[in-house]
Amino acid sequence: MFCFGVREALSLALRTHDPQSVTVHGELVHNPRVLVQLALRGFQSTAEPDRAGLPNTPRVMITAHGISDRERNRLESAGLRLIDTTCPLVRRVHRAAQALADEGRHVVVIGRPGHVEVAGIVEDLPEADVVAGPEAVRTYPHARLGVVCQSTTSPRLAACICAAIRAANPGADIEFVDTICQPTRDRQEAVGRLLPQVDGVVVVGGRNSNNTRELAALCEAAGKPAWLVQSAGDLDPRWFRNCRAVGLTAGTSTLDETIQEVHQALLAIEA
Ligand code: SF4
Repeated sequence: MFCFGVREALSLALRTHDPQSVTVHGELVHNPRVLVQLALRGFQSTAEPDRAGLPNTPRVMITAHGISDRERNRLESAGLRLIDTTCPLVRRVHRAAQALADEGRHVVVIGRPGHVEVAGIVEDLPEADVVAGPEAVRTYPHARLGVVCQSTTSPRLAACICAAIRAANPGADIEFVDTICQPTRDRQEAVGRLLPQVDGVVVVGGRNSNNTRELAALCEAAGKPAWLVQSAGDLDPRWFRNCRAVGLTAGTSTLDETIQEVHQALLAIEA
């Protein structure tokens, strides 16, 4: 099921008149099936790595992942009208990071370097470090640090990285603001409850969806295999040969119909 942020972004897209005059600035959601549906409606789109260019439509749609004020100004200065679907919980991360920087703290963002949400967070900061895992943490030459998370970080990973930051910077004044969004937290907790009951988990979602990958990572950290699929067609019956029970979960940008199709295909394999 979609999280509310994705649902609102899609709802706004579906209510947009004259989609041919709109370029989506990246992937509206990390779901290939939805992206095809948007293209069929007439939306143009810019691939995420190509966002440094300018769309050739008069309007541009900002995705749920958000953008920096710097990027917003660049687009508006070029005469583009913005349709903004930024999730309010991503805005909250921007505000938290900016407030920490305003306090004179060096900001450390727990997230994936290069992810569009992370780019939007750090681009407005005077300086920032982005760490995807405890191995990327270093001793920072700053007396005061401020730590925030990409909204779709798993609580387990955030805790692990925070502990590494504290261990590597024992003399620093460190403030951690937990900016993990509730839908991500809810899914992680649900999978945590599921894991003791199953031999492995099928995770349905886009391959470049961070929260989908974090669900798979949670399973693997618990010693259970996770099979990441984008559709029922990706399932391989051989995966389940030694399984008595298989769990099913999905990322926040997965269509209900895709989850149902995967569920039905799994039941057919079991039969
Ligand atoms: S995953 Fe969280 S931050 Fe991202 S769109 Fe959904 S609710 Fe918003």
